[in-house]
Amino acid sequence: NPYNPKTPKSAIGRKPGGGAYAGFGEAPPTHSKALAAALASAAKPGKSLNFARHKETIATELYREFNRDGFGGALPEKFEITWNAKLLTTAGLTHYRKVTRSSGVSEYHARIELSTKVLDTAEKLEATLLHEMCHAAAWLLDKCAKPPHGSVFKKWAARVMRVYPVVRVDTCHSYQIHQPYKYRCTQSWCLQEYGRHSKSIDVDAKACGVCNGKLEFLGKFNADGTKAEEKKATAFSLFVKEHFGSVKERLPAGTPHKLVMKELSVQWKSGGGTGKKSRAGDESGNADAEKTLEGK
Ligand SMILES: [Zn+2]
Ligand SMILES: [Zn+2]
Repeated sequence: NPYNPKTPKSAIGRKPGGGAYAGFGEAPPTHSKALAAALASAAKPGKSLNFARHKETIATELYREFNRDGFGGALPEKFEITWNAKLLTTAGLTHYRKVTRSSGVSEYHARIELSTKVLDTAEKLEATLLHEMCHAAAWLLDKCAKPPHGSVFKKWAARVMRVYPVVRVDTCHSYQIHQPYKYRCTQSWCLQEYGRHSKSIDVDAKACGVCNGKLEFLGKFNADGTKAEEKKATAFSLFVKEHFGSVKERLPAGTPHKLVMKELSVQWKSGGGTGKKSRAGDESGNADAEKTLEGK
């Protein structure tokens, strides 16, 4: 890796937004001839191609194809493309570097970083790599990085889309990554939302990145935006938590766990006194969250 991590670098990210792939349910766009060629050359005879396993080769082959036909071979033959598993909200990044020698001559370098997590299909890789290569071309060939999606970028995007009409080089983004755990800033003028792949934000320790306001956890959501169902077991497990001790006490000493659970299950089914009320308790959880909100 010729890039010193301490070197300040600018990076242009592709933040996911709504768009062509958002539904995940719709048919993927047809492969470009470049992707078809890259997949064919990454495939080993007699072995099926596995995107997750072969994506490095596919990306390299795709770069070669795109460079040859889309950019007229003007980009470097050897070009660093790396995969980063920590990029969760960005599909790809182009990193720029300019080195000015003591002779006064400047060298322009670029490299591309791709998100392992976001780019989970060949079509997403195809669109993202082509987009990032337009950034690389603007920097390496036109010595221009700003504005990131300005006229120089658009010139390259228009050119490659003529060659690959099925690939869209969007400047707004092609897909949304579903992050089921939603958080929101509680400041009414801000309401910035944050998504996470797990329940990983400590709302007492972390504040809104926009306004420094308090964050609230909104819950877990499905890809279509509906609230994810609470696990069916929740109400029953609350019931067990509450009554396990007393039921066990009433049974003969040494009754196996399995039988205590069986008794609890019988009580639960016969009404148990709390069955449905436990589920309603979910609502009061939200009310608590709102109280916290008002307090700030
Ligand atoms: Zn971009
Ligand atoms: Zn905020």
